[in-house]
Amino acid sequence: MAELYIRTDLTDLPDERGYFGEFGGRFVPETIMPALDELENAYAEAIADPQFHAELSHLQRTYTGRPTPISYARRLSEALGGAQVYLKREDLAHTGAHKINNALGQGLLAKRMGKRRIIAETGAGQHGVGAATAMALLGLECHVYMGSVDIRRQQPNVFRMKLLGAEVIPVESGSRTLKDAINEAMRDWVTNVEMTFYLLGSALGPHPYPMMVRDFQSIIGTEAREQIQAQTGQLPDACIACVGGGSNAIGLFHAFRDDTATELIGVEAGGRGIESQEHAARFADLDISRPGILHGTRSFVMQNDDGQIMETHSISAGLDYPSVGPEHAHLRQLERAWYTLATDEEALEAFQVLSKLEGIIPALESAHAVAEAIKRAPTMPRDSVLLVNLSGRGDKDLDTVISILGE
Ligand SMILES: *Cc1c(COP(=O)(O)O)cnc(C)c1O
Repeated sequence: MAELYIRTDLTDLPDERGYFGEFGGRFVPETIMPALDELENAYAEAIADPQFHAELSHLQRTYTGRPTPISYARRLSEALGGAQVYLKREDLAHTGAHKINNALGQGLLAKRMGKRRIIAETGAGQHGVGAATAMALLGLECHVYMGSVDIRRQQPNVFRMKLLGAEVIPVESGSRTLKDAINEAMRDWVTNVEMTFYLLGSALGPHPYPMMVRDFQSIIGTEAREQIQAQTGQLPDACIACVGGGSNAIGLFHAFRDDTATELIGVEAGGRGIESQEHAARFADLDISRPGILHGTRSFVMQNDDGQIMETHSISAGLDYPSVGPEHAHLRQLERAWYTLATDEEALEAFQVLSKLEGIIPALESAHAVAEAIKRAPTMPRDSVLLVNLSGRGDKDLDTVISILGE
């Protein structure tokens, strides 16, 4: 099956300082710099080593269940009366989402580097569960930082992580949510950098993380590009994915980057609407979102006039983050990718439509991508093809949906 994407083209991004155009880079305390250099070198060695690819690819096949299939959404396509909609089924990967792709890749790298103590951050607990799962498999020690507000909201995932042998460390600073958990994880890394590997969950953070996470997730697009051609005889007219930090989207987009006839569309969380200012649409609301630095990288950041980070809102915890991966900021600036949004309400509607018409309950995050397909397909000819990344399954969201829709 598809191999990890190895950078052979020197014009490919990021550049050697970790920049995607004017975004990305490395904005961290001096004490972390040597650790990032060590990581970058170890990663470069790993991806040049066929043994590393073989090991990762073996786990992807025998543990994660890759390749995940592509499903033709026949009834949805008929109902929409335009483009034919295909779903890349990351919901069928072990643990029910794409996050395992990155957790296994970084876990194998940590092992190779001889680091047995893994730290991670989590918001809703999805990356925490992915990390705890991979570390259980690889026999590494796992500590997950999580805001105390999120711990209260996400009890089942907290229990899952503990069951998988991870330690969950409550974070009481700031808003006691994801961004505070990332701050604490970075603080831990500075203190324990010798023996610790920081397993970052999205295509964010200081170089080399955005590149490394993209590479580990690019299996999604590499598989999908072959599969869609085998099933339809053509490349898709558009690829659609939801964008939180941006890892599932960049994982899908990357394989299509040179297929300029294929539109790349990222969908952000529109929350309660742009006017409400309760959303996480970093590219849509340019009154409160502009280039800035958060968690070690330069990208679009939702901030007030004083540069204080804004609170965000989304019905889906995985999209609820005030910044976005730097490569997306670059793709947007190049106009290679386009970014739009779906509101909570539209995502909730798409969640129900896909369940009823296809027998697939999507994650609320993924439902944002489905919502865009529902808007776009009817405007397209019947022989056109839309490829939607179904980043995860929706079982984790049933409580949220029931509390809104009633029993
Ligand atoms: C975490 C998560 C996301 C958002 O993260 P990205 O890095 O933007 O992919 C989307 N879908 C699911 C199912 C998730 O768990």
